Amino acid sequence: MRIYSTVSEARDACRRTGARRKSLGLVPTMGALHEGHLSLVRAAKKRCDMVAVSIFVNPTQFGPAEDLAKYPRTFERDCQLLEKEDVGIVFAPSAEQMYPNGDVTWVKVEGLSDRLDGRSRKGHFYGVATVVSKLFHIVEPDVAFFGEKDAAQLAIIRRMVRDLDFPVEIVACPIVREPDGLAMSSRNTYLSADQRMRALALRRSLLRAEEKFAAGERDAAKLVGAGSSVFAEEPQARLDYFEIVDPDSLEPVEKITGRTLCAVAAYVGNTRLIDNIVLTPG
Ligand code: AMP
Repeated sequence: MRIYSTVSEARDACRRTGARRKSLGLVPTMGALHEGHLSLVRAAKKRCDMVAVSIFVNPTQFGPAEDLAKYPRTFERDCQLLEKEDVGIVFAPSAEQMYPNGDVTWVKVEGLSDRLDGRSRKGHFYGVATVVSKLFHIVEPDVAFFGEKDAAQLAIIRRMVRDLDFPVEIVACPIVREPDGLAMSSRNTYLSADQRMRALALRRSLLRAEEKFAAGERDAAKLVGAGSSVFAEEPQARLDYFEIVDPDSLEPVEKITGRTLCAVAAYVGNTRLIDNIVLTPG
């Protein structure tokens, strides 16, 4: 496994892979790796000859009042985990490498970027789309792997790839959960033992909506009501949104007639967590 911290070294190494006619998979991460990330790496290993993992806590996707400074950084351990997974390339640039002085260019996926997390985290998805497009240009992967956990991010990346003709295939990987159902997240490490229990409200809210859906309810407002009601019972978890939307456009739907995304975000203490399920009729 080779670790690169500059754009030019990483680009050269990735191009050498292409020159040997080997397929290259990219797994973008912010580090503090867990089984969710590793599931993406394993999917990439299965699919591609060579796997590159980027580790970069991207400052442009954090708001001024968010957790950029305290975001968990466990670089040594991350590298050990990736070595065990037989990853070929790790790209871990500094913020100065990724954002040269005086840069003024953004990738903005209009509309979608203002929905779900983009509504409460203004500018978040501009940072995401910009950094992912930069990573695509540096690594030039054939396939890139993203988790369904960040469903809005996935929709935005897919749209960006389509609109800007990136020659990369996007593969979505299922959400990896703790045994009790909590979606794995680097931010779970912020939670105290008590908060960790309260955080299960997110999963419970999705299951409550899913139960009603399974019983035949197709009215989105009723499903949102059912899901949101969990937060009235768990005041330690503060609901940000519970929404039922089209998984591609992220527009709210009224009646569920096809594959639909049911997504939730809530604060437990100061920690913002997200989760989702897909509802499919028939
Ligand atoms: P992050 O390091 O949080 O930016 O996540 C990097 C990638 O891992 C993103 O594509 C996430 O969607 C994915 N990911 C994070 N947590 C999970 C999880 N619990 N299950 C599946 N994928 C995940």
